[in-house]
Amino acid sequence: MTAPPIAFIDLQAQRTRLGAKIDEAITRVLDHGRFIMGPEVHELEARLATFAKANHCVSCSSGTDALLLILMAWEIGPGDAVFVPAMTFAATAEVVSLTGATPVFTDVLNDTFNMDPASLEDAIAVARAGDLTPRVVIPVDLFGQPADYPGLQDVADSHGLRLLADAAQSYGASLDGKRVGLFGDATAVSFFPAKPLGCYGDGGAVLTDDAGLAQKMRSLRVHGQGGNKYDNVAVGLNARLDTIQAAVLLQKMEIFEDEIERRQVIADRYTDLLANVAVTPKVLSGAVSAWAQYTLRIQGRDAVQGRLKEAGIPTAVYYPMALSDQTAYRDCPRAAAGTPVSQALSREVLSLPMHPYLEAADQERVAGAVKDAVNP
Ligand SMILES: *Cc1c(COP(=O)(O)O)cnc(C)c1O
Repeated sequence: MTAPPIAFIDLQAQRTRLGAKIDEAITRVLDHGRFIMGPEVHELEARLATFAKANHCVSCSSGTDALLLILMAWEIGPGDAVFVPAMTFAATAEVVSLTGATPVFTDVLNDTFNMDPASLEDAIAVARAGDLTPRVVIPVDLFGQPADYPGLQDVADSHGLRLLADAAQSYGASLDGKRVGLFGDATAVSFFPAKPLGCYGDGGAVLTDDAGLAQKMRSLRVHGQGGNKYDNVAVGLNARLDTIQAAVLLQKMEIFEDEIERRQVIADRYTDLLANVAVTPKVLSGAVSAWAQYTLRIQGRDAVQGRLKEAGIPTAVYYPMALSDQTAYRDCPRAAAGTPVSQALSREVLSLPMHPYLEAADQERVAGAVKDAVNP
């Protein structure tokens, strides 16, 4: 008899828990018919801001557009350098290139996989030597863990740079008692379905305490609209969050805090089971991860992943290639010391099934299979 399959991320378990609530919330939108910027969008923005204790929330169509709206509002463009970690999803650097600015890659720390402040200093010097104007730092909260914001903020302040937090994977996480959304000048969040707080399509938001920035982004997400609908005061985007997605997210917010707690229990259980088998995730003291992913470091990762697949255990590799090595970005500048940690991680990281409804018995099965796959 074969055991039932284990899901990498089980969205159906969450849907079962919420019962008819999401269906009812969607039906309410179908009934009122305000599909664009309906009341749920404004309700959600207030809710997301309150949760993070940020003053302003501007929802938008994706995490990518959240990043882009911020850079557009700051008028980042050609000749500007924006610093991004090499170990991240393409969107972090892509938005920089879309503004005409230059992404400059930094390496990440060996233990947390997040932006290395020393490599940031190195990359700033490279940008200056290349006649670029350093403007913005974009730390990424990889796998749900907040970056070293105090360390990075010091570097940003000493060079007069803005700090944009790419919290696409980490809404719900905190550092020193402060939730993600309060670090730096602005924070970009994604509601892609597989993120810790996901909708049923694409969605995103910006959190900030800067009222002027929030106002500018509200205009930019609707084509740069001015006071009069047909007088556009800036070149913008169509980047609104759908009312139906806001309605879905409002229901998911009801259980989100509990889900973050469950993720922590599950991560702790994995760490207990696997501490002697592979390198388990290191969380900074004072940090609470949103555990978007539970990621091991394993020598011979590809072979281990293959054996796990044969054993019926789904895994994922984020990311199999450092962004700084990918075709579209390999000509971009980077820290003089290069991005060796990101390159090593791309060969060694392996993410295990992770969601708030993972049963202890299934985790034991995953851990047992990892043990067998590491020592075949
Ligand atoms: C998912 C992700 C994004 C982009 O979010 P979308 O909502 O998919 O556009 C940006 N940065 C990081 C680090 C991500 O993981």
